Amino acid sequence: MSAIALYARETPGFADRVERALEVLRQAAAHHAGRVVQATSLGVEDMVITDLIARHEVPIAIGTLETGMLHPQTLALIDTITTHYAREVEVYKPVTESVITFVRKHGERAMYDSIELRKACCAMRKLEPLARMLKNRSAWITGMRREQSNDRGGVAFSELDDKGRTKFNPLADWSLADVWHYIDRYNVPYNPLHDEFYPSIGCAPCTRAIAVGEDFRAGRWWWESEGAKECGLHVHGAQADAQPLVSTIGSHA
Ligand code: SF4
Repeated sequence: MSAIALYARETPGFADRVERALEVLRQAAAHHAGRVVQATSLGVEDMVITDLIARHEVPIAIGTLETGMLHPQTLALIDTITTHYAREVEVYKPVTESVITFVRKHGERAMYDSIELRKACCAMRKLEPLARMLKNRSAWITGMRREQSNDRGGVAFSELDDKGRTKFNPLADWSLADVWHYIDRYNVPYNPLHDEFYPSIGCAPCTRAIAVGEDFRAGRWWWESEGAKECGLHVHGAQADAQPLVSTIGSHA
């Protein structure tokens, strides 16, 4: 059964949530002109955001992290975005020498050996390239939703990251049903792994399908405890909601 058949459902307020997400994107573009990027993981939430940006011609760049460990289905989405939306995707890869040194020292499967090595791998393959993506930028866009995990229950429409940049989360109040309803309604391309019970997709060694009844995040770093399950991309700074721009957005919540 496809993910659309499983999850897509129109619920009251959907059109308002779409409009609010678009408003967040437009305000991000207006207040950070030329200095804002969507950091897409190529997951389903990020495909919704890319579609909103492209469909409404919001001037926000699109960038992704090519960790060297992605599934071929995930990699293929980069070309799909380029052709489907005629939008360039900035691709950031880890430093080759760092990868060679790390793998030589710790092996290809180091992420399973300890949390420290797993986090070191994430730092090398994700955090350093992300820092390059965000260099000279004052804001970024993510697909985080409150519903995704307990840790994300407090996600705001905008917040400050640990470097003082504004991080916009336009889908903060969306449900999974909203996400898939949008995908269905607007015929948005998505990773076919979602149809194989991969609700959350990251690097291939660190992602698996989930079983019926399992939590959606159970397919990521499944050998670790719940509290350790973030890769460090979403370190909180302070809430940005005190700013006039953002409180306007937040007041709809
Ligand atoms: S998700 Fe896994 S493979 Fe990808 S960077 Fe992190 S530890 Fe490495």
